[in-house]
Amino acid sequence: MITVEEALKKVLSHFDVLETEEKPLLESLGQILAEDINSTVDVPPFDNSAMDGFAVQAACTEGATRSSPKFLRVVGQVAAGYVAEEKVAPGTAIRIMTGAPIPAGADAVIRFEDTDEEDRRQSGQPLTEIGIRCQAEAGLNMRQAGGDISNGSLVLRKSALIRPQEIGVLASLGWNVVRVFRRPVVAILATGDELVDVAEPLSPGKIYSSNTYSLAAQVIRYGGIPKLLGIARDSVHALEEKLKEARDADLLITSGGVSVGDYDVVKDVLVKHGEVTLWTVRMKPGKPLAFGVLSVGEKTVPHLGLPGNPVSSMVTFEQFARPAILKMLGRESYDKPTVRARSESHVRNTDGRRTYARVAVSTRDGEYVARLVGPQGSGVLTSMALANGLMIVPEDVPSVGVGDDVSVQMLDWNEEAQPDKDATELEKTPIVCVVGKSGAGKTYVMERLVAELKRRDYRVATIKHDVHGFDVDKPGKDSWRHAQAGSDAVVISSPWKLALIKQVDHDFSPSEISHLIGPGFDIVLVEGFKRSELPKIEVHRKELASELLCGVEELLAVATDEPLELETPQYLPADAKGLADLIEEVYMKPRGTKAVSAY
Ligand code: AMP
Ligand code: MG
Repeated sequence: MITVEEALKKVLSHFDVLETEEKPLLESLGQILAEDINSTVDVPPFDNSAMDGFAVQAACTEGATRSSPKFLRVVGQVAAGYVAEEKVAPGTAIRIMTGAPIPAGADAVIRFEDTDEEDRRQSGQPLTEIGIRCQAEAGLNMRQAGGDISNGSLVLRKSALIRPQEIGVLASLGWNVVRVFRRPVVAILATGDELVDVAEPLSPGKIYSSNTYSLAAQVIRYGGIPKLLGIARDSVHALEEKLKEARDADLLITSGGVSVGDYDVVKDVLVKHGEVTLWTVRMKPGKPLAFGVLSVGEKTVPHLGLPGNPVSSMVTFEQFARPAILKMLGRESYDKPTVRARSESHVRNTDGRRTYARVAVSTRDGEYVARLVGPQGSGVLTSMALANGLMIVPEDVPSVGVGDDVSVQMLDWNEEAQPDKDATELEKTPIVCVVGKSGAGKTYVMERLVAELKRRDYRVATIKHDVHGFDVDKPGKDSWRHAQAGSDAVVISSPWKLALIKQVDHDFSPSEISHLIGPGFDIVLVEGFKRSELPKIEVHRKELASELLCGVEELLAVATDEPLELETPQYLPADAKGLADLIEEVYMKPRGTKAVSAY
């Protein structure tokens, strides 16, 4: 059985971002920009008034107060959308509305409230003159031309998601056609002799094909265009006929027919017409899954064969089809919005698979809580309808108890939503492992690298991983006595530092440990964990081994006492400066620039 991650990695390797297309502005909503947008205009295009008031020369207001106003002659008025014909000369003012261009000669706007206009009106005095009751600096209540966007500047970057606010920004630039990455067409085919379309009457032994509709709706939700191929009967011929209609799709999704029953012909047809891998994935619901590339006439179409049970097909869609669609759309992140929540239910997970349990997530006392909803059978679609999240119970966790901390994928959260600022911040904190054979000098490299990064003012956290275990509690100390008495987690704290000693039921991954460490760090350096998939710096010593422990694709750098024939950057183990430069280059700088790249 392969893991969800392994299966996803294989699936995603068959997809790439699609070609670009031009779209009328409004229709580009939800797509990804395929070009940088540089402005060819200033926004706003001209200096204009930020208030309703009087355009004046600031110098003429010097010394003006409520009790001793300066009087100016009113020579005209201008509304938004028009240009004043008159000029503002010393001693004069023009009545102006918000958004109207600043008249020639003026350099400030005095709002009505700071003039005697209202008093004049009430006492019937003529409005040919105005009393100014405050002194203005040049530029007061004015919006400068180009103050939001200046001509020639980079406004939106290629690969930005087009949300309503981007639509607005593009409209403010006069962009009415946008170049975006095309949406994928996803063909959907249900298989099964028992299936009937919702528009048909039911007869004995038949059920409605709900998958056709739930899957098509998921395609739409994640930005694809569904192409409904209807229902194929459980015969090789019927299926072959239907598959022809998938010719022009970017992805074909079938439901059903991939398990081991007598009529599960999908796999036979796929094997006959394509390169298909059938997997049993370590997940529940959704064990059987097929993926491959199907030849349809001259063309090839990636095919994802989902299980037929209605909940299984939806859950496997979320884990595999959704990321593929997002990748084709040009999205950079496929992570499902996920929160940490406290479980309010007991969930059993006995057969070593990753369970996705249907839960309702709500907030209580400032934290998320997750409660199981309805029966969890893979055919019970109503419990899916009651759920707003999928609680993830890892493969090696046999049960979740009430009060346990769990991860929950949020089904309805906007993909752009920042689930939990701390959690996303943590996910973005880069983690680098320093690995090497025992005695290669990992701690030496760690020590120097930490000191060098601290010298550069970064907040650094470190993790020491030891597969043989460790012991920090001194027998007889209070914390030791707590642990001896059976406490599952002991924290020793003082006003300056704290230590956590917790009994764990599995080897915590660096990112899980990172969550324990908390937010606010620029980098986490791990000593050890050579089997993780994180980027690594391998410490190599000639006298210990002739070959490296890690594959080059996992390596960020090698700290080595002999030159190696590799493309990977190499440093002497003592060269902390070089290693820190590299870490800075790879992790710190792009983050710095990203912050300003939003526009
Ligand atoms: P299968 O994977 O084909 O063995 O189907 C497993 C279960 O899912 C069976 O009970 C099917 O009747 C049911 N099923 C298969 N396809 C659909 C569908 N399109 N809509 C609703 N239920 C389905
Ligand atoms: Mg079937």
